[in-house]
Amino acid sequence: MSAIGSLTGRLDELKVDAFLISALPNIRYLSGFTGSNALLLVAPGRSTLLTDPRYAIQAAQETSGCVVKVARGALVSAAAQLIARRGWKRIGFERGRLMFDAWQRLKETLPLSASLRPVAPVVESLRMVKTAEEIALIRASVLVNSLALEAALPRIRPGVRESELAAELEYQMRRNGAEKASFDTIVASGERTALVHAQPGAEPIAANQLLLIDMGATRNGYVSDMTRSFFVGTPNRKVRKMYHSVLAAQLAAINAVREGATAEQVDRAARKVLRAEGLEKAFVHSTGHGLGLEIHEPPRLGRKDKTRLQAGMAITIEPGVYLEGWGGIRIEDTVVVTANGCEVLTPTTKEFIAL
Ligand code: ZN
Ligand code: ZN
Repeated sequence: MSAIGSLTGRLDELKVDAFLISALPNIRYLSGFTGSNALLLVAPGRSTLLTDPRYAIQAAQETSGCVVKVARGALVSAAAQLIARRGWKRIGFERGRLMFDAWQRLKETLPLSASLRPVAPVVESLRMVKTAEEIALIRASVLVNSLALEAALPRIRPGVRESELAAELEYQMRRNGAEKASFDTIVASGERTALVHAQPGAEPIAANQLLLIDMGATRNGYVSDMTRSFFVGTPNRKVRKMYHSVLAAQLAAINAVREGATAEQVDRAARKVLRAEGLEKAFVHSTGHGLGLEIHEPPRLGRKDKTRLQAGMAITIEPGVYLEGWGGIRIEDTVVVTANGCEVLTPTTKEFIAL
């Protein structure tokens, strides 16, 4: 069944007559439309994609399972008119996605007989389990990402700026077939590796320091995510020991991934290894996250997430330790859940590389 078909089949259960989709990745997933301005009104019989004249040709080419209506002016007003014409009463909207001003405008322009109903992230739930085509796209994105790192590695040496290296990594992604980086590439060196989401700086990378690179490529709309930690120079015992603790935690988490395991069980597997090393407090984020059309999708592999993993979910496994004044180490792969375990898509070595 088409993605849009599986959603229309659930409207009764969601207690709505029509469901207004406003999140662009959800619109892309359901209809195929990749533009930057659209609303998708999902309803039994006929779903309608509303967009503006700039996207008239593109929407006609890209979409399936819905009719395209090109509107001038605010798309929510066009949606309200369509709702009035069809006489739909209970209108669902994505409660975590619709902007307040759009909600307000919609409320003002809808007929009095229609009411707005907040709906849970159901499209995000559908998107958690990837189709074979989606996994092939993620795999291709992962390969581009790893090729980009490999191509940029010879450029890493003392004196190169973090920002220069980030630019090189993103250039190599695009040379290898990516549309863009799926998030701002993180390149951090020295003590700054303890900043989980460090911005690459203008300072040159110094000798005898940690270097952390977290990068992702977007290819055909699908993303990848990988972190590798390096040492510029010769690492001392403490650095090597820390690296191997993080790697052991990462491998333990990967080992815990299988259909039927919960997201929190995978997180606990990583945490258990780090606790034994006295590093639990230095691990300040969750073990991973889903990814696909967006870089952060459910499930979140953290404490309290009881989502059961299903074959076909694409997730990251990325424990890390961060010590203020010392630095941080993180190792991240993109993996796909299978019936008996998982397949690690990221081909890049996890041996500790001294550059
Ligand atoms: Zn990452
Ligand atoms: Zn990540």
